[in-house]
Amino acid sequence: MNNELYIYNSFTREREKFEPLHEGHVGLYVCGPTVYSDVHLGNCRTFVSFDIVYRYLTYLGYKVRYVRNITDVGHLEGDIDSDAEDKISKKARLEQLEPMEIVHKYTLGFRDIMHLLNALPPNIEPTATGHIIEQIEMVSKILENGFGYIKNGSVYFDTPKFVKEYGVYGKLSGKQIEELFTETREALKKQDEKNHPSDFAIWIKADERHLMRWPSPWSVGFPGWHLECSAMSTKYLGAQFDIHGGGMDLQFPHHENEIAQNYGACGSMPVRYWMHGNMLLLNGRKMSKTPDPITGKSNSILPLELFTGQNEIFSKAYSPMTMRFFMLQCHYRSTLDLTDAALLAAEKGYRRLMDAYKALQQLQAPANAEAAQLDQEINGLIDQAFEDMNDDFNTPKALSRLFELVATINGIKDGHLPADRVSAATLQRLKEVFQHFIFDIFGLLDEHDGGQDGQTVDGLMQLIINIRKEARERKDWGTSDQIRDALKDLQIQLKDSKEGTSWVKGS
Ligand SMILES: [Zn+2]
Repeated sequence: MNNELYIYNSFTREREKFEPLHEGHVGLYVCGPTVYSDVHLGNCRTFVSFDIVYRYLTYLGYKVRYVRNITDVGHLEGDIDSDAEDKISKKARLEQLEPMEIVHKYTLGFRDIMHLLNALPPNIEPTATGHIIEQIEMVSKILENGFGYIKNGSVYFDTPKFVKEYGVYGKLSGKQIEELFTETREALKKQDEKNHPSDFAIWIKADERHLMRWPSPWSVGFPGWHLECSAMSTKYLGAQFDIHGGGMDLQFPHHENEIAQNYGACGSMPVRYWMHGNMLLLNGRKMSKTPDPITGKSNSILPLELFTGQNEIFSKAYSPMTMRFFMLQCHYRSTLDLTDAALLAAEKGYRRLMDAYKALQQLQAPANAEAAQLDQEINGLIDQAFEDMNDDFNTPKALSRLFELVATINGIKDGHLPADRVSAATLQRLKEVFQHFIFDIFGLLDEHDGGQDGQTVDGLMQLIINIRKEARERKDWGTSDQIRDALKDLQIQLKDSKEGTSWVKGS
């Protein structure tokens, strides 16, 4: 069995053998959410993909330092960094809340969804607002090294100079430099402070509209969105580290600018392996909250709308584990299309895998079976499943090997295959590998599948929801909160909507 791990590096566009910078250790940075609204299902796909990367590296024995940031300042509407307003600042202004109330609310919501999807928390979850000093230091370094300039209190990155000295701008996103320079030309009208249209802000002087601002040597302002990832990855993983991940939509401008900033401040490429996850489509189309001009309907769905069934898109509710299984069925670099039929199939597949796992635990090898007929085939499939994972985390292929093994397991369980065709050693290995793959690597959980117990739980939950509803009607917020918190401890989430309150179970 070949134990070498290969990763497709988006920067070189090649499948490369993975060799960590420091033996036995991996530094992994993933761009996290901007917490100004509920997390997108598409973003959930990215985070689940990197959860599997994290889990598999850990399974291989690496000590992984996994950093995933929270963007809580600096992400501007439309990503154009002059007149545009900070997303969180704007939401706070519209909802008449403190920006930190917005940040807190959506950070908690994001973590809840990650928990439901059984995505492990990162080792460090740094926030942009918690690293203003580090970002100011980085801007200073960029200025010192001559890759930035100050205009009216804002600081801009000098892209043409970076191109001239290092020539790597545009390489990650595959854009021609000229293209980058003309693409932004339209925005030039608003960006008269810039020397060149492709320059981008690394420190932005704040006007009165901005609720979030900090003193700096240049102005009272806030950092540019791209800066936080450069500053925080450098702080926690070093000026060079192993893997940087994110959604494909972040390649340009976010990751190009990250690379530019790191060169500007530290003089080198920060990342050895760039990994990018592909998009999640909904019924064959890109997800978008903007309503269709003809139908008036938007093509988007939130995670909780999917889990609770409160949506007009799908025929029923699909559990977080069905969604996770559905994501595993597709390679992270391919687009994945969310449809009712595909989710129904994933639900069945997930159940079939879990049932086979349970059946496998009950199987006993006959005492005399030492080297048996099916051993080679079973061991071959197991080895292939690991080779698939070693081939740029190919979960759909690895999953298909497990399903070939499911057929054997079910054959023995149902008596179609004599049990003595598998030796005790192979059966033991199969049990262990199934356990590792399903729970440790794929990160699936066995969701309770209802039945008699399920009905009892449904009845009890309805009773609890009614008690809470009555408490809320008499403005007894203490009781209402107590119920919600107690349920949360049990990993049960309540979701209030016009139709009433529904619940969803996590792990
Ligand atoms: Zn980032």
